[in-house]
Amino acid sequence: MSLPFVYEALPSRVVFGVGSLQKLPEEIDKLGVTRALVLCTPEQRAIGADIVVMLGARCAAVFDGAVMHVPVEVADAAREKAKRVGADCSVAIGGGSTTGLAKAIALTSELPILAIPTTYAGSEMTPIWGLTEGGVKKTGRDVRVLPKTVIYDPALTISLPVSLSVTSGINAIAHCVEALYSRDANPIISLIAEEGIRALAGGLPKVAKQPGSLDARSDALYGAWLGGVSLGAVGMALHHKLCHTLGGTFNLPHAETHTVVLPHAVAYNAGAAPEAMNRVARALGAASAADGLYDLAASLGAPVSLQALGMRREQLAQAADLAVQNPYYNPRPVTREGIRRLLENAFAGNRPTAES
Ligand code: NAD
Repeated sequence: MSLPFVYEALPSRVVFGVGSLQKLPEEIDKLGVTRALVLCTPEQRAIGADIVVMLGARCAAVFDGAVMHVPVEVADAAREKAKRVGADCSVAIGGGSTTGLAKAIALTSELPILAIPTTYAGSEMTPIWGLTEGGVKKTGRDVRVLPKTVIYDPALTISLPVSLSVTSGINAIAHCVEALYSRDANPIISLIAEEGIRALAGGLPKVAKQPGSLDARSDALYGAWLGGVSLGAVGMALHHKLCHTLGGTFNLPHAETHTVVLPHAVAYNAGAAPEAMNRVARALGAASAADGLYDLAASLGAPVSLQALGMRREQLAQAADLAVQNPYYNPRPVTREGIRRLLENAFAGNRPTAES
């Protein structure tokens, strides 16, 4: 190990395994809290109600209005409810949108979070919050929003539809891939990131074949956890920046956009980060990182073109302009011409090329 590095461990407790949801009451007691506000989306009301039953007297109230990208009006309503019922913690059951709502509450009240993830997005392992006001999403880092306890129960992911499982899983792979060539890359997180890719690349095909298999779901959720750790520990680069721009400006769906863009962002960076690429390819069991990622998505029936997500060709120029507007770290310098070519390939769904 010739490069110097800085590594900072983030404090969180992880309880992983099929059936671990049963440990919720004792985990709440371990946190030293007694009045939980349960958070979920309207679509996950039923599982939210199960949590209320499990918590019994430890539950103060439910807020079932979590939605994508945490609109500030929703955050304010949930904060107001937490205050009104005297909640002393949030229990967030769901994907990144629900965890995001718990984080918004924690940002202004320091209410501790117990997160129970049901997708592979990874937000539960990061100190990153996001809030949307007037159509603009603001994000920031604050260790107060990092969940104190995370319960990963693979049984809760059985109901995640195969298409969302695949794209959400590739979203988690993207966290691992960019961690390997991050400006703050360090040997611990690189071990975690490579193992995360391996677990997801092995688990997702099994999930697609047998969505009800707890073994397959455990592999994928384990990989998603490692993806979340990677995202929370080190800075991301071109791929995440592009997806943030495409999602925010053109309202493209989060996990699907990650799935389409990843092979092309990787091809763009391949020459500038050879060691990271070797590790990605090794974890995928593929000859090249970019090809391996493209083939994984295509073989699982995931979308491979921005066109299929509803983007229009005339939006590519604006997307390229936005992607180069504010400078940010990337292993290969970001040029407008290079990004335009990358976006053309992603738009058409071409196999990624090194010149992207
Ligand atoms: P999501 O939370 O928006 O969930 C998508 C839909 O799937 C919702 O309707 C939800 O109720 C449903 N769902 C979730 N789990 C299910 C299950 N097991 N069975 C059936 N339905 C289920 O989607 P997501 O991809 O998890 O999260 C995306 C959001 O999270 C974005 O806003 C993204 O920016 C944010 N995010 C934040 C971070 C961070 O570190 N702050 C990290 C990753 C993602």
